[in-house]
Amino acid sequence: MTLYTFNILVLVWIGFAIILFPVILKIPAPYGRHSRTNWGPMINNKLGWFLMEAPALLVFGFLVVTGKGFEQQAILIFSFLWIMHYFNRVIIFPLRIRTKGKKMPVVIMVFALFFNLVNGFINGYWFGHLAPEYPVNWFFDFRFLGGLSLFITGFILNQYHDKILINLRKNSTTGYKIPEGGLFKYISCPNFMGEILEWFGFALMTWCLPTLSFFLWTMVNLIPRALDHHSWYLKTFADYPKNRKALFPFVL
Ligand code: NDP
Repeated sequence: MTLYTFNILVLVWIGFAIILFPVILKIPAPYGRHSRTNWGPMINNKLGWFLMEAPALLVFGFLVVTGKGFEQQAILIFSFLWIMHYFNRVIIFPLRIRTKGKKMPVVIMVFALFFNLVNGFINGYWFGHLAPEYPVNWFFDFRFLGGLSLFITGFILNQYHDKILINLRKNSTTGYKIPEGGLFKYISCPNFMGEILEWFGFALMTWCLPTLSFFLWTMVNLIPRALDHHSWYLKTFADYPKNRKALFPFVL
């Protein structure tokens, strides 16, 4: 595929994200607490997570390993960070979540699988096969250093707050509690804020269109979900802290 065709593909992909944003704002993605049984056949929640996230790991991994990008240290670092994130999301996260007996609609799993397939392809093909050249002093560029710091901070925040949420079900229930600790003092979804920060950092340190498209898609997926979670908490728990925001402390 030529660079021109590839860029058109990524721009169309970004266009989809922009068109979908108002739709996702209106219709809460029906998995987890917003799961619905009227969306057709259902699949086991853990299996759904594994299947829908796996393409991001496998397709990206295959394309970078079979391409020429690995000859560059910068691309090796970017690929390592991607694979670290997705190894957790595909293997560790589904094993850790306490969602025994819970299901998600197959259609949601298929949508997410398609998203991860395209996202894994776009980024894997870019780094593996189109293999942009990064200058030798890229490691001293403020975009690389700032982006890497934001990625690591976001990764830690995402992991830390996902862990708090998972631990709320230590006594083998599948219900919901008001989360406390860490940034839950200020917002309802610090795990999502961490994820957004991660992919913002990644886009900054890699400075290219494919990773920018992933960052935009992450916001399109997670801003509406954070707003839905936040209003669900307020409706469900009369004693939910009123000063908490949804996603960004003091802002949103
Ligand atoms: P949630 O915060 O909705 O749930 C995370 C886990 O914690 C689930 O197992 C959930 O159970 C459980 N949980 C959440 N809140 C509570 C509570 N108050 N009491 C008890 N248990 C709770 O996250 P998602 O499932 O939407 O996403 C999981 C991860 O995937 C996140 O880290 C997110 O950032 C990432 N993600 C990334 C996307 C992207 O575009 N990059 C898109 C979507 C997710 P249950 O499932 O039963 O609700």
